[in-house]
Amino acid sequence: MADADPRGGPRIVFLGPPGSGKGTQAARLAEELGIPAISTGDMLRAAVAAGSELGARVEGIMESGALVDDDTMAEVVRERLRQADARCGFILDGYPRTARQAETLQGILDAGGDRLDLVISLRVPEQELVSRMASRGEVEGRADDRAEVIRERLRVYEGTTAPLVERYSAAGVLREVDGDRGIDEVAASLRELVA
Ligand code: ADP
Repeated sequence: MADADPRGGPRIVFLGPPGSGKGTQAARLAEELGIPAISTGDMLRAAVAAGSELGARVEGIMESGALVDDDTMAEVVRERLRQADARCGFILDGYPRTARQAETLQGILDAGGDRLDLVISLRVPEQELVSRMASRGEVEGRADDRAEVIRERLRVYEGTTAPLVERYSAAGVLREVDGDRGIDEVAASLRELVA
């Protein structure tokens, strides 16, 4: 699939609440398909670590569990998707997160004559999400993995991002995957889905 038409590689979006494992699965699937996994969370964290102007602008917002504004994210994503490695497909992890971001992505794809092939929604019960993120906070020390920030990120996901599931379902590109299983089992389901 990945090496068919050089411009026609799979363009995939991963949707899923924080703690659903979508970052792990997106990276793994992308590697198997030979396409880049583009994580907007990783890009923003890299900007913060680098002390760039963008990093300074988004640091406090990320620490609070809120979303960075749509215009800033549009710039970040537009520039990243313009790079050569994203021409033949990509997996987007963490974008879009709002209806406006979905419109922006649609616009970028339309402009290139491209379309989304697949939107994968990773489903995990809320109780499991909270316990996963709480232990991740201890192990990796992510500043936004504290209990009250976790709740805020889940709230933002439910209110703002989860409605995108409906949108992509109506567009006929949505597939739901049970993320409440071991990493390898979930990965196997995803591999089957794109095959
Ligand atoms: P998660 O563990 O919730 O999947 P990410 O690593 O994707 O977290 O993102 C971490 C934080 O980065 C978000 O809580 C948000 O502040 C910011 N962020 C990442 N992607 C976006 C986006 N598409 N729109 C707005 N903010 C974003």
